[in-house]
Amino acid sequence: MTKIFDDPATFADEAIDGLVAANRRYLARVDGGVVRSTQSPARQVALVIGGGSGHYPAFAGLVGPGLAAGSACGNIFASPSAGQIYRVAKAAELGGGVLLSYGNYAGDVLHFGQAQEKLNREGIQTRTVLVTDDIASASRDEIEKRRGIAGDLIVFKVAGAAAEAGLDLDQVERLARRANDRTRSLGVAFDGCTLPGAAEPLFSVPSDKFSLGLGIHGEPGISEHAMPTASELAKLLVERLLQERPDGASNRVVPILNGLGTVKYEELFVLYGKVEKLLADAGLEIIEPECGELVTSLDMSGLSLTLFWPDDELEKYWSAPADTPAYRKGNLEARQFRDPASLADIEEAPVLEASAASMALASTAVEALKAAQAVVVEHEEALGQLDALAGDGDHGIGMRRGVDAAVAAAEKALDAGAGLEEVLSTAGEQWAERAGGTSGALWGAAVSALGDALGNKDSYAADDASGAVRAFVDAIIALGKAEAGDKTMVDALLPYVAAFTEAVDGGAGVAQGLQSAAQSATLAAEATAELSPKKGRARPLAEKSVGHPDPGAVSFSLIATAVAGLAASLKPTSGE
Ligand code: ADP
Ligand code: MG
Repeated sequence: MTKIFDDPATFADEAIDGLVAANRRYLARVDGGVVRSTQSPARQVALVIGGGSGHYPAFAGLVGPGLAAGSACGNIFASPSAGQIYRVAKAAELGGGVLLSYGNYAGDVLHFGQAQEKLNREGIQTRTVLVTDDIASASRDEIEKRRGIAGDLIVFKVAGAAAEAGLDLDQVERLARRANDRTRSLGVAFDGCTLPGAAEPLFSVPSDKFSLGLGIHGEPGISEHAMPTASELAKLLVERLLQERPDGASNRVVPILNGLGTVKYEELFVLYGKVEKLLADAGLEIIEPECGELVTSLDMSGLSLTLFWPDDELEKYWSAPADTPAYRKGNLEARQFRDPASLADIEEAPVLEASAASMALASTAVEALKAAQAVVVEHEEALGQLDALAGDGDHGIGMRRGVDAAVAAAEKALDAGAGLEEVLSTAGEQWAERAGGTSGALWGAAVSALGDALGNKDSYAADDASGAVRAFVDAIIALGKAEAGDKTMVDALLPYVAAFTEAVDGGAGVAQGLQSAAQSATLAAEATAELSPKKGRARPLAEKSVGHPDPGAVSFSLIATAVAGLAASLKPTSGE
């Protein structure tokens, strides 16, 4: 159980703030995560790691000389956004390029991938090495689909040491990839973990059993077995991992026995002693092992064993010194501190080339976001009250935080010369980052999807608007997985897209289409009063919600009406 917090929504951020406060000789806080507080040689490759929070020492505890240059820190078990990763990488890079390395999870792959594109477009050479050590998560035929667990440490350590040794980006990438190819892990769990503020654990394991191959976020395991003795558990883990010995491995092996959160160090040591003996009995020579908490999962009761099969070159980098809050090895010379001013405000330059048509519409998009902001401000309190009937009362404040951040980001991008695609995608990113709550994540994704759909074209026609409206709605359905009748904003979105498409296909202009779509959404939002919620926070108090419309459907219809009003007031231009 996670017990110490003021507000679960700020838990992850406050934990990073406190980690930095306790480790200023290693870490400096930047928007989106942490970077080294000390100077590193110019042109050193910057290893940027990251992922969700809740896995300490992964990832922020592994930042320092000889290891990572920075870590992007998402919310608990949630990927950092592309913007966060980008900003951390910008603060960390030293002219020698960036290596992004992280565990293979869909959200991380998406967001680190977007950040990589953006960095590359800006001329900062950026590569990626995914960690895929967990043998339980996919078969050997689909080895590239495996997720990353404690093997993260091996890959990060080798890459960080190679960067520290002055190798260039090609070499650092090559070594990190080889380290990953030669690393295998398998985990077990005895009980689940509980998110801050949650009443129930994410999952649980019967008290006389353990789950084999369970992931670090409670992803299902391979099988459940009766609780073993330490000797039986050591044998099981070692045998399974030896079956996965990579081609070309010598008889030298690095074992890592990793605690997942609430297994005592003494228990780990009992097990480690048996693991090491089994490995020796198999004729293997043990090199610089680790036994302790290295990649955790909140308060999960469980552990994993990793075997790394280095060649001479990899062994050299595994053994090299490192100095970070949570991982120290050998000796490194003391470093000078960085100038804090060099970390202030990483400017995000617009990097997409924008056409004249896209630039013109970008300023209309900012006006539309401002119209949304005005109507959210006007109804902030009422939306909160509506959400308080069966939800948690934060819909007004959440929408306000989101739309304020979106307008600020859009205006900044527009001033810097960005076009439609970039204005909307950064606005959506900021909406999701700042709003908190389910609706914030959904609105953020939807606004970004508008930008992606509209892209950067030489001219725009009514068809583009239909495609964009559909992309907006599809993004919300893809992320939230709500269906018609679940009593969510989707109940207003589906009639909205239907009415818009019908009007535009029938030859009405975009402004007319937005008008009739907003009317349909308003009626549909009112009609949600009769429904009983099947998704979201209001579900447990479903009966209290009947008779009142869904807050998210109402806020959507208010914004749709405001945007239609704006469109009607604009002088029609060609194609609009
Ligand atoms: P939270 O529910 O996290 O407190 P908000 O109060 O800001 O977030 O938003 C609540 C609104 O979010 C609901 O009224 C509903 O319209 C919408 N919502 C919740 N879950 C989903 C979902 N899975 N898909 C679509 N909309 C959803
Ligand atoms: Mg709410």
